[in-house]
Amino acid sequence: MGFHHPALICLNGHVITTNADNSSFTTPYCSKCGKKTISSCPNCQHQIDGKYEVQGILDLTGYDMTAPAFCPYCGKPYPWTQLAIDAAIAIINETDNLTESDKTTFSDNISDILSETPKTKLATIRINKVLKKAGSTITAGVKDVLVEICAESVKRVLFP
Ligand SMILES: [Zn+2]
Ligand SMILES: [Zn+2]
Repeated sequence: MGFHHPALICLNGHVITTNADNSSFTTPYCSKCGKKTISSCPNCQHQIDGKYEVQGILDLTGYDMTAPAFCPYCGKPYPWTQLAIDAAIAIINETDNLTESDKTTFSDNISDILSETPKTKLATIRINKVLKKAGSTITAGVKDVLVEICAESVKRVLFP
């Protein structure tokens, strides 16, 4: 039988440690950005699953993880996911050559490009149209905030 240690992640999505049970690795704030760190979902309080350990097996290998986008226990986006969504929408809203309808298309479809769902392909096509129209500077800005959290297939299309 194995179990997950809780991971400790800052509100911006930097992974501090994948084993928050070891208090020598835990800090109340992130050393990269200064944000508060959490080891459980703010919505449902379930721990954020980190390193998986099988009992009785001494495993000294490191364990790399990227911050998960959604809480698998309540389905809500984690704080860093919400921050990235908000930041991407803010960039698009500052773009002069987009219409209101382009901006609405972007914000309505953005949550479907974060993970693979039946709606991901359509959402990717729609977002891609908006980004093409917005131009390369805006696309680069959106890429910066979304590349870590969007689905692999989406990355290949939007940010090749
Ligand atoms: Zn941080
Ligand atoms: Zn949750």
